[in-house]
Amino acid sequence: MIKVAINGYGTIGKRVADAVAAQPDMEVIGVSKTSVSAEAYIAGKRGYPLYIADLAKKPEFEKAGIEVAGDVEAMVKGADIIIDATPGGVGAKNRPLYERLGKKAIYQGGEGHDVAGFSFNAHANYKEATGKQFARVVSCNTTGLVRLIHALDQAFGVERVRAVMIRRGADPGDVKRGPVDAIVLNPTTIPSHHGPDVLTVLPHINIVTLAMIVPTTFMHMHSIQMDLKRKTTRDEVMAVFEKHNRIGIVRKATGIKSNAQLREYTQDLGRPRTDLWENGIFEESVSVLDGKEFYCFQAIHQEADVVPENIDCIRAMMGTVKDPEESIRMTNKALDFVPIG
Ligand code: NAD
Repeated sequence: MIKVAINGYGTIGKRVADAVAAQPDMEVIGVSKTSVSAEAYIAGKRGYPLYIADLAKKPEFEKAGIEVAGDVEAMVKGADIIIDATPGGVGAKNRPLYERLGKKAIYQGGEGHDVAGFSFNAHANYKEATGKQFARVVSCNTTGLVRLIHALDQAFGVERVRAVMIRRGADPGDVKRGPVDAIVLNPTTIPSHHGPDVLTVLPHINIVTLAMIVPTTFMHMHSIQMDLKRKTTRDEVMAVFEKHNRIGIVRKATGIKSNAQLREYTQDLGRPRTDLWENGIFEESVSVLDGKEFYCFQAIHQEADVVPENIDCIRAMMGTVKDPEESIRMTNKALDFVPIG
């Protein structure tokens, strides 16, 4: 069993912890928090030993009825690998601790590529992670872009990508960011950081991205255009999506036309926390003009799509499963990942 510690038990950390606990070859040896909160209670209810960044706060936790197993350093010592899901920028500050203790760590997309020098996506570069001490699972938007671009690049070759990201304003529980009522250009300049971030995984792709933030919490929506190298048809493109185990199709027959309806749908499907782990490509939007011009809309659930990638990244770095497809299948099976469409 691979011993996994989750440093930072927030939006991403709590999901990755549950996903690790569901795997047959991994166990959660601890999760960490900085202060008493609802998530600290949940860790106890899930049976995850809770470690804290500052032991001086132990009495506060105990007063709230939350047992503390020790400090973050003790948790890191007991792990084979750490998922660092602390807020953006904190992961880089944690790196010296992992280095000192000689531990492997996986960072999230809020950190720069340099924090690990290697950015990961299971379909694109699983094998390159073997034996690495550090890796970064790219952000939710970049994960969604890389899955789609890589799938079409493998099948037809991608000449260039032009994509607009309509980004959610905040996560559902993130009340401190709201209420909001605006469409914010994020950034005003072009390109947004997403295109350059795709290049950390797929360096040969010609890509320009634009981004804006809107007042919604459920998902991001991508509007994507790609020029393909080889002539193809809509049916051939759909066949690539139907076969892909992290691309889901939002069927025309469902009548779903928004992030809100899609969230309702994943809730009705019984997905834990309503999570959409795969890209949600709108079937009706998939278009191929003149054989080479591809268009689509895809929904990306910011809280969820990086979760299975973290699980595959653990196996890749530990070297326990050599074949990416085998790890992806294991991860999906353990999550009871039934396709959305
Ligand atoms: P979050 O704020 O929801 O959770 C972070 C957790 O880390 C909190 O529980 C906090 O208590 C804990 N923490 C803070 N400082 C700590 C420290 N020094 N030691 C240990 N724990 C500490 O953040 P999040 O949204 O889960 O984001 C985590 C990372 O994942 C970031 O890099 C972010 O950019 C990335 N990410 C976030 C999303 C998203 O939409 N939320 C999507 C993809 C990637």
